Amino acid sequence: MFQGLSDKLQETFKRLKGKGKLTEEDVSEAMREVRMALLEADVNYKVVKEFVAKVKERSIGQEVLESLSPAQHVIKIVNEEMVALMGSVSSKINISSKPPTVILLVGLQGAGKTTHAAKLATLLKKQGKHPLMVACDIYRPAAVKQLQVLGEQIKVPVFSIDGENPVKIAQESIRHANSQGQDVVIIDTAGRLHINEELMGELRDIKATVRPHEILLVVDAMTGQDAVNVAESFHSELGVDGIILTKLDGDTRGGAALSIKAVTGCPIKFAGIGEKMEALEPFYPERMASRILGMGDVLTLIEKAQSAFDEKQAREMEQKLRKQEFTLDDFLDQMQQIKKMGPLSSILEMIPGVGKQLKDVQIDEKDTAHVEAIIRSMTTEERRKPAIIKDSRKRRIAKGSGTSIQEVGRLIKQFEQMQKMMKQFAGGMPGMPGMPGMP
Ligand code: GDP
Repeated sequence: MFQGLSDKLQETFKRLKGKGKLTEEDVSEAMREVRMALLEADVNYKVVKEFVAKVKERSIGQEVLESLSPAQHVIKIVNEEMVALMGSVSSKINISSKPPTVILLVGLQGAGKTTHAAKLATLLKKQGKHPLMVACDIYRPAAVKQLQVLGEQIKVPVFSIDGENPVKIAQESIRHANSQGQDVVIIDTAGRLHINEELMGELRDIKATVRPHEILLVVDAMTGQDAVNVAESFHSELGVDGIILTKLDGDTRGGAALSIKAVTGCPIKFAGIGEKMEALEPFYPERMASRILGMGDVLTLIEKAQSAFDEKQAREMEQKLRKQEFTLDDFLDQMQQIKKMGPLSSILEMIPGVGKQLKDVQIDEKDTAHVEAIIRSMTTEERRKPAIIKDSRKRRIAKGSGTSIQEVGRLIKQFEQMQKMMKQFAGGMPGMPGMPGMP
């Protein structure tokens, strides 16, 4: 995410850090580079101009805090202004006190509306809500089917009526939700390739009929300034409450994320970061700025860990570690838990300082698959006491797991080393770096 922009800004700051005292000329030079980096990242030029002017004014005009070096002071200001650009506070969706809460998803075709209807439903369900998804995209026959398939996958009901118009379907869906005790209605509407009057007319009609508590615009981050223009049009035509910025996982530039709030006044409420149903994050401007500036995002990492790790299980695991009863079976369990947090590369990216170092390292998720296969090919006894695995057992396990004798040997050795380490740090955090198959 935003790697290109992040690298350039960090280069600039590295040069500043090399200087003991900063002259006005140093700051101006750095700001020229920041300006270029932002423009290359496809940030709106007016936004860039104002941003740079503000940072420059504050950097030169203010007394430097004693605890900070001059370079740190500039970085702090850049960070603060970046947070302000993206909206300062994180914005939640309006949940109505009188159910059902009606959420209308709008946006162009391909932006990720249908996918995000389901991701949003998944998130709300986790929060104890009972969502209903409504298929109002009647022009693309596959769209209704797509929503139904996703609904089955996440076990959320989908409302649709064959041969009916979208306004009527939306209207009926609210009645249906009321009768079934569904407390959030997520309406997936039709998209078009471009904004046109017909589309806006239909959305206005749906809005007037169902009076949504929340209109969320779904835009594709990878389209950069086009996403900002699309947001401007939708907002002026329809009045948008918030934005779901999708495909941030593929966005190396960050132009849309950094300009959309400043240009349209609409806050980004969620970020889509992958195709899986769990790949949706509430958008926190501070955390995003921190990631862009290479300072990691420890808070999101902790939240992900909390939602993936079950507390009781973690306590049991800690007990095992203390008593040194940690087996390869437990290890396999831990791997599954970590996998639930998302792709390894995106987890490591959130650790301060690690993202940059890993830039050129290709993390091979296959390695962890091999480790899994090897453990699964062992007998219960072998998993408990890997020391009994001599040559013939190694050969059998390698064959069973489709790996090599060397790989099996390496895993056992690493596991034994890990056990040794755990003896020293008994009670430490389970399942963190140093595990076989993990970089
Ligand atoms: P719609 O036409 O607006 O309903 O768009 P879809 O929901 O059908 O999404 C279009 C494509 O984008 C699909 O292939 C999705 O899997 C993909 N997609 C949606 N959101 C994301 C995301 O956050 N990251 C990535 N990488 N792909 C996404």
